[in-house]
Amino acid sequence: MAFTRILPNLNSTNRDFWTGGAQGELRIMQCQDCKTHIHPPTLVCRHCLSDNVAPHAVSGAGQVDTYVINYQPWAPGMEVPFVVARVALDDAPGVIITSDIIGTPVDDVDIGMKVQVTFLQQEDVWLPLFEKAA
Ligand SMILES: [Zn+2]
Repeated sequence: MAFTRILPNLNSTNRDFWTGGAQGELRIMQCQDCKTHIHPPTLVCRHCLSDNVAPHAVSGAGQVDTYVINYQPWAPGMEVPFVVARVALDDAPGVIITSDIIGTPVDDVDIGMKVQVTFLQQEDVWLPLFEKAA
C-alpha cells in the first residue's frame, strides 16, 4: 500500500501557496504596504494590520534552521528514515517552512545546509519539499 499524505483543504487564502508549484513558484503572502512576508498565509498583515496583502513568488532558496530524522513508519507504506526540517527562506525574512528534505542521505543533512524548493504534486496540491542546493 502506497503512503498518501494528508492534503490541505484549499481556500482563497492558501490556494496560491499550495498550487504555485504548478508554475514552479513558491508563493508566500506579502504585505504590499510594509513588505513583510506572512506565513502561514493570512489576509491581514501581522506586522502593520494592513489588508493589502498578495502572494509573492520567492526564489525557493533557503537553509535548514533545524531538523529531525524520523525513523518511525507512522502509516502503512511510509518509507523511513526521512528528514523533517524547518527551512528559513533566504528572501522572505522570518518565514520558516516545515517540510521534508529529499534526495540526500538523512545523515548528510545538517543545520545551515543550503536547500532549494522542489514540488511534489498530489491531486490538486503541489507540496513544497526541499533538496540540497547545487
Ligand atoms: Zn504590513
